Amino acid sequence: MEKIVIAHRGASGYLPEHTLESKALAYMMGADYLEQDLAMSRDDCLIVIHDIYLDRLTDVAEKFPERIRADGRFYVIDFTLEELKSLNFSEGFIIEKGQKVQEYKNRFPMFTSTFKLHTFEEEIEFIQGLNKTMGKDVGIYVETKAPWFHKQHNKDISKATLEVLKKYGYTKKEDKVYFQTFDYPDLKYVRETLFPQYNIDVKTILLYAYNDWHETYEYKEGKWQLFDYEPLMTFDGMKEVSRYATGTGPSYDMIIDKDKSKQGSIVITDFVANTHNNNMICHPYTVRKDKLPHYVTSVDELYDALYFKADVDGLFTDFTDLAVNFLKNKIQKLAFTNMHFK
Ligand code: CA
Repeated sequence: MEKIVIAHRGASGYLPEHTLESKALAYMMGADYLEQDLAMSRDDCLIVIHDIYLDRLTDVAEKFPERIRADGRFYVIDFTLEELKSLNFSEGFIIEKGQKVQEYKNRFPMFTSTFKLHTFEEEIEFIQGLNKTMGKDVGIYVETKAPWFHKQHNKDISKATLEVLKKYGYTKKEDKVYFQTFDYPDLKYVRETLFPQYNIDVKTILLYAYNDWHETYEYKEGKWQLFDYEPLMTFDGMKEVSRYATGTGPSYDMIIDKDKSKQGSIVITDFVANTHNNNMICHPYTVRKDKLPHYVTSVDELYDALYFKADVDGLFTDFTDLAVNFLKNKIQKLAFTNMHFK
């Protein structure tokens, strides 16, 4: 099967993540799929943004200082679409000693030019419009962010997402769409309840987190508890997952053993084998040329380790062009070797 490139939040290595500009760039760089992360606004619009917070990416603290919650954060869910559109969007930053400090130093300068938030529907129309003018069929790769959190606020983000998918004609396995989530209980609900209800059956990916990220909570025995991913990493765990998912979406740290791996000697875990042996595909996240692990000296080595040593079926990268070029060169080399040394 052909290996694919998924543009992680667009061409986010070059332009602020999840802006339509970064999607256009990734599109032109040859991505197979463009990623959308989704959170819901106070007035139930699906917003394309990676965090359920606004603090890392916008000037919300200056524009709406009174909306800060007790935990010191500003939440997408506390704002209307109109308010969200009034914010300036930026390359990601962290706050250090009260100052904004850009997270990736060599990326697009923060708070320069003009970027705005947009809705899921606006992005689909953008990509479908490009597919029409460019004569291509680039896919969408949709993630519902923290469905458990939206449920706590009486919002069903998965239902809202499927309604939009249905409206824009993404309904079947063959369609160029993946539905991904970290929330395994919600994925079960999507597959068992919502898919039949909406007559939808698209490809699904269960994303895997480390428990200490506190990525997912589930309502169990009368209270919200931290979800445990450990049992889902084994062959038997994945057998269960394969009832609901077309594939797995792990961190690449779950695929390459970073403690045992050294430069020139990559040690693979059994994660991809467990996935493949349960007839699922594997799409790890996230390859960044400006954040390489110690066991490689170039981004191409990391692409090679994941695509060809670990044998993943696709991967998320902030640098679509580099992954596309890597695959093109590698496939040419493999074809040459086959031709001359058979
Ligand atoms: Ca994502």
